[in-house]
Amino acid sequence: MNKATGTTAEALRLASVRKSYGSTAAVRELDLSVEAGELVALLGPSGCGKTTTLRMVAGFERPDAGSIRIGGAEVSQLPPHKRNLGMVFQNYSLFPHRTVAENIGFGLRMAGVGRAERDTRVQEMLDLIQLQGRAEMYPSKLSGGQQQRVALARSLVVNPKVLLLDEPLGALDKSLRESMQFEIRGMQQRLGITTLLVTHDQEEALSMSDKVAVMSAGRILQIGTPNDIYDRPQSRFVAEFLGTSNIFEGKVAPEGTSVLLPGRDGEIAVPLEMAAQPGSPLVLSVRPERVRLGEHAGEGANFEARVTGAVFRGNYAAYQLDVPSLGRELFVYRQADGPLGAVSHRLGETLTLSWAPRDAVPVSAD
Ligand code: ATP
Repeated sequence: MNKATGTTAEALRLASVRKSYGSTAAVRELDLSVEAGELVALLGPSGCGKTTTLRMVAGFERPDAGSIRIGGAEVSQLPPHKRNLGMVFQNYSLFPHRTVAENIGFGLRMAGVGRAERDTRVQEMLDLIQLQGRAEMYPSKLSGGQQQRVALARSLVVNPKVLLLDEPLGALDKSLRESMQFEIRGMQQRLGITTLLVTHDQEEALSMSDKVAVMSAGRILQIGTPNDIYDRPQSRFVAEFLGTSNIFEGKVAPEGTSVLLPGRDGEIAVPLEMAAQPGSPLVLSVRPERVRLGEHAGEGANFEARVTGAVFRGNYAAYQLDVPSLGRELFVYRQADGPLGAVSHRLGETLTLSWAPRDAVPVSAD
């Protein structure tokens, strides 16, 4: 955001971009706008078109239609090396026979930058990735996380306009992935570099991004802040792809303020947060951590339930409960009092299960 003018600078824009391989439509009609300094994640299941989108931005693939602008300039017809981008892939792709310093300085050498300036810039990058003492080592002597930091430094040293990250942490084990998420995000924010991240890992997308764009079948279904996407999914697909959700399919009651869910002994009315078109079909998503146990929700939904599964998940307890009146089971996550995640409800226990109207989010059926 430019504070003086109140406007935002658009660093990357894709408009009506399409790409097919033979009869496979990999990207269908994609619009995306990334502001300067933002990190946007493209998140979706395998085959949804994330990599194809990134490759078109990089210039490795040419779109069949549409426009790609970087810093306002159309680049869709430019070769990759003329786009002023940095790229990091899952498999590091460092030069094995060059030292860390040579790897980092490679792009500068190709650009004809002199020795003295090159050395200064490489030093700056080594400081940034905190590998000062490793400049003369070869990549094979570094850990996976360190190699990925070198790959990042190598792509950042040329001051790219946009950084493209393609599953950058995919090859690392879980604990390292988490610390690298913090590290990359911290670096990206300090440098203020506009970044497009491709990942199929929802946790990675939620924890690293300013905005998450959820893709399915070649399209962006929803884009928003991680909070927004998680708490206010617009479709069943987004609700279920990001975390776990209890999905209810019903019909809006004649007075429009509740939804009628099919139950064992007929329809059951569940209050809605906002009035909806009477008689229309309605799908609701309720997150497991929004469901309360052993508490009556006043104006909300209240059911008698029986615990059929209870597991310890470390920082929370996950329950499965049978709700006889609905003839189905629900998932509930609770952070117990006392020790984090302690399982405080036992198998077979019967208790009230409830949620507030605001925690039942209407979503589209697809
Ligand atoms: P993944 O997470 O598995 O990499 P993705 O979301 O990145 O998946 P893409 O790799 O962009 O998806 O692929 C989108 C679709 O395009 C898939 O159906 C894929 O099979 C197809 N596709 C991608 N590249 C090619 C290619 N070079 N030739 C033919 N089909 C391709």
